[in-house]
Amino acid sequence: MSDLRELYQEVILDHHKKPRNFRKLEGPCRHVEGYNPLCGDKVTVYVKVEDSVVKDVSFQGTGCAISMASASMMTESLKGKSLADAEAAFRNFHEMVTGNPDKVDQDKLGKLTVFTGVREFPMRVKCATLAWHTFHAAAEGESKPVSTE
Ligand code: ZN
Repeated sequence: MSDLRELYQEVILDHHKKPRNFRKLEGPCRHVEGYNPLCGDKVTVYVKVEDSVVKDVSFQGTGCAISMASASMMTESLKGKSLADAEAAFRNFHEMVTGNPDKVDQDKLGKLTVFTGVREFPMRVKCATLAWHTFHAAAEGESKPVSTE
């Protein structure tokens, strides 16, 4: 188990150092700001939706390794998904870090399961879910900032 933990940490640190899709989207898109006052994490998530498909998704922001890695990995996992599948992924991820692990579809989460351990640290749950809540709001067509409080 300790080896697994190390591997998980490497993935998270790698995404923190080299965040994927860390940019503003060009052209028309939805964007929502998210803020986690407990930790000071801030993200802006940009989403381009066409024909109910997430054509592109990106983010910018500052924060702890967990929040930035989570945002980075989220953008990788959501690109190309239908809005319905993206919403299911949001619920699945949320269930993994806050709910009942037996209800989680591990296969669908893929690499995102590196965040499973976060459930043991309630303070960190908000770091891990910030980008997801922000994406969810953008996908729903909200424009108001999201706060985890
Ligand atoms: Zn944080």
